[in-house]
This record gives sequence, structure tokens and C-alpha cells, in this order.
Amino acid sequence: MSIAYLNGSWQPLQEARVSVLDRGFMFGDGVYEVIPVYQGKPFAEDEHLARLATSLKELHIMMPRSEADWRELFREAIERGDEDEAILYVQVTRGVAGSRSHVYEDSEPTVLITLSPRVKPSLDHRLSVVTKEDFRWSRGHIKSISLAANSLAKNEAISEGYDDAIFIRNGKVTEASSSNVFVVKDGVVVTPIADNFLLHGITRAQVVALAKQHNIPFEERDISQEELLAADEVWVTATSIEVWPVQKVNDQWISNGEVGLIYKKIYNLFQELKCQSN
Ligand code: PMP
Repeated sequence: MSIAYLNGSWQPLQEARVSVLDRGFMFGDGVYEVIPVYQGKPFAEDEHLARLATSLKELHIMMPRSEADWRELFREAIERGDEDEAILYVQVTRGVAGSRSHVYEDSEPTVLITLSPRVKPSLDHRLSVVTKEDFRWSRGHIKSISLAANSLAKNEAISEGYDDAIFIRNGKVTEASSSNVFVVKDGVVVTPIADNFLLHGITRAQVVALAKQHNIPFEERDISQEELLAADEVWVTATSIEVWPVQKVNDQWISNGEVGLIYKKIYNLFQELKCQSN
């Protein structure tokens, strides 16, 4: 069942309403988190709460709930939604303004939490991606609800016959439209440095930690477009898809479309991590 908590009250998701003067609606002035629920428990809750705090701070939006309150609300959402595997979506906007103005005043943040069933990704589908110039702003580390640019890139990629876009800024890979990018070359796993041009993905951090714990050679550094195309393996990571293999970049096969050995290892380690945390 899909349910929503909006500013203190629980209701069916379809019935939840906000004002047109909400700055989230008017300006995309807000942030969000997507937290997976496995076996009835939020996964990496601490990390998601920490990133929510960072995103709010960066936009000078007041943190509207204590950490204990968030945890309790997540518990309640899971109980009310009654799903074993689900997605908790959290959105905080600057709130409702007196009138439409670029200058913001003090307002009570709007708090939305939804819980929806998790759609399990089908790993049989391997991605075909296209590179696109990264035309987004330079604060990609903020998990902003202003996703028009990401959405545009993804939809352009789809209309051109691909599954997704990987952004290139100044010749270097930043991230995909809604996931982080990893490549493997000669046994070394590489991902771009988590700077202000990309989201510091929670799944990305988990995969990095797994590689380090299991002595898989790993580097965090720039990846050029040429390196991406010449990689032995390419994967993308995100909460909704976990770790997913890419088989083609710009119509060019990656290792003849074979799923890589390191991908398989990381995929299995990630499944173990999910079980251990519950
Ligand atoms: N980059 C972007 C642009 C994203 O939107 C997302 C999440 N959907 C990610 C990376 C991955 O982040 P996470 O692993 O925390 O879901």
C-alpha cells in the first residue's frame, strides 16, 4: 500500500496535497532522500539521514525533525505501509511562501514521507548508455528535488534508443542521470571522486567500502570519456537499482556484452551486506 505522511498527518498517497505557493512547487526549492527498506527495515538509515542534513544545510533550509523523530516516522511508515520490501521517499521543501519571490523568508519546511512497494530490478536487462555533456549546475552533491536537467538527459537518451545518459564534464565522467558510475580496467575498480559535481551516492559509498574490505584494487579518480569506452566493465549504482551492469556505451560493446567477474563479486557482496544489516 502506498501511504504518505505530510506535515504531521498520515493519508493515502493519492490524497496528499500541498499549496501552489510551496517553494518546492514554485522553485524546486527542496531536497529529498530515497531509502530502501529490506525485510521491513530501512537500509543505511544513518547515511541517508546524514546526507539529508548536508543537503538541507547547503540550501539553508531548517532541519525540520530530530534524528529520533525521523527514525520513528520511518518505523511508522513501514508499519502502516505493511511492505517487506519498500522504498521510503523523504522530501523537505523550504515550505509555503507568502507570495512568489526569489527572496526567501522564514517558513516552516514542508515534510513529506511516502512509502511505496519496491519494484525489484530485473538484472537480465543490461544497460545501453549514451554520453552527454554535463549541462547541470555545479552543486550536484546536493540531493535537490530540481531534477529537470537529469530527467531531460534521461528522456533524451531514451528517445535516442538508449536506457540512460552518462554525463561528461570537461572530458571527465561525473555520473549517470540517476546513478553513480564505476569502471573496471585490468582488475582495478575506478569511480570518480565525490566532489561537488556529483551526488555522493550511498550505494557508491557501500560499493567502495566493499571493494576496500575485500582487497579488490580500487581507485577514486578522474575517468576520461576514452577510459569509459575502453573499460573492461562499467556499472552504475543507486538505491533503486543497487549495482547494475552496463553492456554498451555509445553503441560500443563493453567486453562483448559479457557481465564482468568483478561486477559479479561486488553484486554478491552487496546482497550479503543487505542480509547482514537486518
Ligand atoms: N546520482 C544521482 C544523480 C542520483 O539521482 C542518484 C540517486 N537516484 C545517485 C547518484 C545514487 O545515489 P544513491 O546510491 O544514494 O541512491
